[in-house]
Amino acid sequence: MKILIIGGGMGGTILANNLARRLAAEIRSRKVQLTMLTASDKHMYQPGLLYLAFGRMTPDELYRDQASLLEPGIELQVDPVETFELDKNQVKTKGGKTHAYDILVIATGSRPVPEMIPGLAENAEQFYTEESALKMFRSLQAFQGGRVVIAMGVPHKCPMAPLEITFMLHDYFKDRGIRDKVQLHYTYPVGRVHSLENVAKWAQPEFDRLGITYETLFNMKEVDGKNKVVRSEEGTETKYDLLITIPVHKGMEVIEKNKLGQGGFIPTNKTKLTMEGHSNVYVIGDTTNIPISKAGSTAHYQAETLGENIAAIVKLGQPVREHDGKVFCFIECGKDRATYAMFNYTNPPDPKPPSRAIHWFKMAYNKLYWTSARGLL
Ligand SMILES: Cc1cc2nc3c(=O)[nH]c(=O)nc-3n(C[C@H](O)[C@H](O)[C@H](O)COP(=O)(O)OP(=O)(O)OC[C@H]3O[C@@H](n4cnc5c(N)ncnc54)[C@H](O)[C@@H]3O)c2cc1C
Repeated sequence: MKILIIGGGMGGTILANNLARRLAAEIRSRKVQLTMLTASDKHMYQPGLLYLAFGRMTPDELYRDQASLLEPGIELQVDPVETFELDKNQVKTKGGKTHAYDILVIATGSRPVPEMIPGLAENAEQFYTEESALKMFRSLQAFQGGRVVIAMGVPHKCPMAPLEITFMLHDYFKDRGIRDKVQLHYTYPVGRVHSLENVAKWAQPEFDRLGITYETLFNMKEVDGKNKVVRSEEGTETKYDLLITIPVHKGMEVIEKNKLGQGGFIPTNKTKLTMEGHSNVYVIGDTTNIPISKAGSTAHYQAETLGENIAAIVKLGQPVREHDGKVFCFIECGKDRATYAMFNYTNPPDPKPPSRAIHWFKMAYNKLYWTSARGLL
């Protein structure tokens, strides 16, 4: 049986390692062939970008060689897929190879698309790539005071990043002794400060306590860099001296080009994790259109369910469990306090008051991630 995983990020890597362990005997006896096709020989720990933007991590800490993270038994090829031929159970790569499969898993992630909002890319600081996070760090260091506006598009990966960046900016300016010269203004596209109701209920008083102003129902329409104004679809506008953004995301272009899903997000059954209409094609991580947080932990828990199910298909002829939509997100509440949100399809999150202990747990996880990617945590 040929199992083909497309994408070597959080979801693809955890799944591949999970399967390599569960199916070690079948791989050794060549009953199963497990192949990963990915776009880069490096694996990035994307949550580290948040710290990079404040000079609290360095770029080298974000990367490992992809090959070093994979269990023996996984055939890795750094050769991105260009064409999906689902009717023929095969894909074609940039390198000109054709790979047939019995089971296909798509885990190609998502990407920010700042160019969808006129003026945004040129005028706002971002932190979702290494280059932009380093640029933001330099801009923050040079900033001496004024109005900082935080604005975002939906969907975007990491649901807690808007809150985290805002709380961390508060502490950053406080540490530099210029918090009283900085007005922090947070905007959010829906009618409360976070899409998850209980997270919004918890965060709003925190904003009030820290003197952070906010405006909800603010969907960016355009950025006027000359006059330093962001305008919203709702007809309001807000002035800025420094604009920080998390742009709206799409799935990867290859998904759109192959017409697998609108905006690059693939229609996915939320409990089976199958692509709608294709019983041997699975989708995990940011690439799905499941209305749940696009987060590494979402991809991680999906990978665990899918690992168990694909191994069961090999050994028992059918999957054994349904996915419950589990997500666990830390929420950094400044430089040294954090809380977390844990939820699934049926149970909403219930964030507790932030603590130093949870912050240090998150700092430890930033190192332990590499163990987690290997599926050992
Ligand atoms: C600043 C920031 C902070 C974050 N903080 C958190 C956090 O605290 N907690 C949390 O849970 N999540 C966090 N996330 C989100 C998390 O990183 C993503 O949700 C997660 O990486 C998604 O996993 P994935 O496997 O779907 O995609 P990715 O990890 O993005 O992997 C996609 C993979 O697909 C490959 N690929 C792309 N195109 C092709 C192709 N054509 N063919 C083959 N392979 C291809 C890529 O090379 C890559 O290996 C954060 C993200 C950012 C940017």
